[in-house]
Formats: sequence, structure tokens, C-alpha cells
Amino acid sequence: MNATPTTTSAPGVQAAARAGAPWHGQRVMVVDDSAVQRSYLVGLLRELGCGVILEAADGNEALRLLEAEQGVPLFLVLTDLEMPGMDGIELTCQLRERRLARHLIVVSARDPRLLEIIENMGSEDAAIGLLGTLLKPVQRDALEALLTRAGSAGSGDAAGAALPEHALPAAVELEQALAAGQFLLHYQPKVTMQTGHLKGLEALARWQHPARGLLAPQHFIPALEGTPLMAGFTLALVRQVLAQLTEWQRAGLPPLTVSVNLSADNLADRAFVDLLAAAVQASGVAPASLVWEVTETSVMRQLSQALTNLGRLRLMGFGLAMDDFGIGYSSMQQFARCPFTELKIDRAFVNGASQWPNRHMVLKSALELGQRLGVATVAEGVETAADWQLLRTLGCDLAQGYLLARPMPAGELVTWMRSERRRLRALAEGHAPPD
Ligand code: C2E
Ligand code: CA
Ligand code: CA
Repeated sequence: MNATPTTTSAPGVQAAARAGAPWHGQRVMVVDDSAVQRSYLVGLLRELGCGVILEAADGNEALRLLEAEQGVPLFLVLTDLEMPGMDGIELTCQLRERRLARHLIVVSARDPRLLEIIENMGSEDAAIGLLGTLLKPVQRDALEALLTRAGSAGSGDAAGAALPEHALPAAVELEQALAAGQFLLHYQPKVTMQTGHLKGLEALARWQHPARGLLAPQHFIPALEGTPLMAGFTLALVRQVLAQLTEWQRAGLPPLTVSVNLSADNLADRAFVDLLAAAVQASGVAPASLVWEVTETSVMRQLSQALTNLGRLRLMGFGLAMDDFGIGYSSMQQFARCPFTELKIDRAFVNGASQWPNRHMVLKSALELGQRLGVATVAEGVETAADWQLLRTLGCDLAQGYLLARPMPAGELVTWMRSERRRLRALAEGHAPPD
């Protein structure tokens, strides 16, 4: 019987060193079929200052012990992937469904492909609290680095779901912010992979909050969705884009396209589309300078309305991008039905594609689809030179991501162009130094 809970208090020195760490003194569990591996991992966790450390030899045993915890989720389950009986994948699913642990780390002796499946499961559902995956032999520093994420993810509720630090703002607050002009845009470059030239920018919303500082979209877009404020919000941002495009033209910059994200509400609203078209026309900006980005989910939400409006926008001469491609359900059929001019592959399949075979595969087939349909392909979330090289080999047209630039205020664009021109050309020519 190797499932005896070992009540261990951490040795004094180590414990003192990490007294402030979020995992310090916490109840945790190690699941591994090999007794040697298990005691090695227990040793590491003990050194790092964890409190009570439970042990189990496979998923079934782990669940039995967790159920005995009487509804109080453990701080952490550290599990092996390959085990007889219930393996780590099945255990991960069970932990997620039953909310038995706040955080999870998965280790494996081989096949990064399996770990990738786990990582993807984690990114789909915050409730699982996956801190990350580790290859064996587990190094203490790597383990500590993952544990540190438990701290930065916020204290979390009992189930470990990543709760935002602040609740979403109320409608009145958003309405005031809109009236006060607190929503503004940052712009992220999209670069032509063949030449390294700046092709266009994606406009990304920010809220200059009077008390909380500059807020990212996740703190307010969900609160705008489904409210009558969404139309006014998007229109206000589009007006800023139009003014900015006019200014860039006047400053003699090469012609740029700006992409703007539309929400499902926007897309289903015929009156909104009329207002959008009127605003563009009044500005004198050519519709071809604008690309509306929409996700498959927002098209699906009200399919016939969305298709009609997309058709109208395309007829007016605007570009249309399918955003976050690859994470939807019927991606292929949907894409072929809509008059898109651009396919934006979700960063989940771009980021790390040079290392992870599954991402590589999805990326490759998405690019092939785009190429067959004759639309521009855009990879978002390009962070490394290795991923850039892969995309180049696969014939992707445009790249967007931290490797090239983070989203920035409009005023920083010219400086960025000047300082990065040579690096971008080198990347395009394929002789850039790694990252
Ligand atoms: P999105 O349309 O997928 O936008 C791309 C997001 O990826 C941006 O996050 C950008 O900062 C981030 N990103 C870009 N390059 C990289 C990279 O290399 N690595 C990583 N990890 N991330 C990268 P951001 O600005 O936080 O925007 C998040 C989402 O909010 C957007 O996702 C979009 O769906 C939504 N959003 C932003 N602005 C608007 C808007 O004006 N209207 C609507 N309806 N939604 C918006
Ligand atoms: Ca987008
Ligand atoms: Ca996207």
C-alpha cells in the first residue's frame, strides 16, 4: 500500500526561505506509479516548503484520496502522465470536472506530444488551473518556476478558477467611460513575411481607467457584449482609426491597412453596418484600407444576419478576416461560405509550432486551406524566430506577434519602423540571429 498520506512538515531552512510563497505549507499530492519517482518528487516538494504531501500510485487511488478530503480542493496535484489504471490524461479530466484540486502540474518521461494535449486542455478551461507540464527528470528550478505561477494566477476560488482581480465593470461605468473618451487604441504591426515590410496594423482596444490605469480588453469587452453600448463603443474606436489613417497618410507613410475587431453584436446588427459605412465614407478613407476581423463563433451566433452583413461589407470594398481560425468547430465549411479576404490563424497553433507536432500539423493544414482558397494568411502570436522560420517555410503571407512588436500607441509607430527595419529584413531573408 503506497497511498499512505505522509504528514511532513518542511525542514526549517527551506521553509523559512519560502515562507511567503503561495504553496508554502499547502496540502499537495504526488501521483506516480513508480515508488522511486514518487519519493523523488515528494522530496522536491518538501524542499520547496509544501505542507502535507499525499501520495498515490495511479489516478483511481488519487481520486479516492481526494474524495476523502471532503470537498476541500487540494492546493496542487502533481501527476505522472503514463500510469497503469487511470492515466494522467483521464485524471486531468476528472480533476477538472470534479474540481478536486486548485492547481495541476503534469510530468512525463517521453513524448512531448502527450504533454501538448494536456497543455491545450488547460488553455481551454481555466477551472483546471494547469500550471504547466514538465519532462522527467524534473528539475527543482523548473518545478519552482511553475509553482510561482500559482501565485501570479491570483488566489483563486475554491475550485481554482482564474478569477479576474476585479469584477467586470457595470454598464453605467462603461457608459461614463465611453462618454469621457477613455477607450483608446493600441496598434500591433502585421508584417509581410517575404519582405519584412510593414503591411498593416491591428487596432486593439484599451481602457484608460482613471483609477486602475491602462486596462486590456479582457477587463471590459465581455461586459460590453450583449449590451446596447457595443455599437457605440466600436464606432468610437473606428472613428479613431479613421482619424489615425488620415494622419498617417498626411505624414507620408506608405499605405497601411488597419484591422478592427467586430463583436458578434456588431455583426448581427444591420443598423450598425450602415453607421459604420457612413462613418468611413464621411472620412474619405478608402474601404480597402480597413479589414474587419470577426471570429467564427460570432458568425455562428446569428448566422443569416451575419452572412448578410459580411456580404454587404465585402461589396462595399472592405477586407474581411476570419479571426482565431482553428479553434472553432466547423471551421472549414464556415470559412468557405463567407466572403473572407484573410485567414488569421489563432496563436494557439502558431506559438510553439516549431516545437510541438500537433500545432505544426494544424498550422500547416490551416495555411493550406487559406492558400487553396486564395486568401491572405496571417499568423498571430509569432514570438520566436523558430516559429517565424517555420511559417516562412510553410508559405504564410503575414505575421503578427511579439517577435515583431507588441501593440503600441500610434505615436510610437514611426520610431518602431525606423529602429526595426533592418532586423525585419534580416528575418525575411532568413538569416536573422535566433530571437
Ligand atoms: P485577438 O483579436 O486575438 O487579438 C490579438 C491578441 O493577441 C491581442 O491581445 C494581442 O496583444 C495579443 N498578441 C499579439 N501578439 C502576441 C504574441 O506574440 N503572443 C501573445 N501571447 N499574445 C499576442 P489583446 O490586445 O489583449 O486583445 C485581446 C482580445 O480582445 C482580442 O483578441 C480581441 O478578440 C479583443 N479585442 C481587442 N480589441 C477589440 C475591439 O476593439 N473590439 C472587440 N470587439 N474586441 C476587441
Ligand atoms: Ca483580432
Ligand atoms: Ca486572434
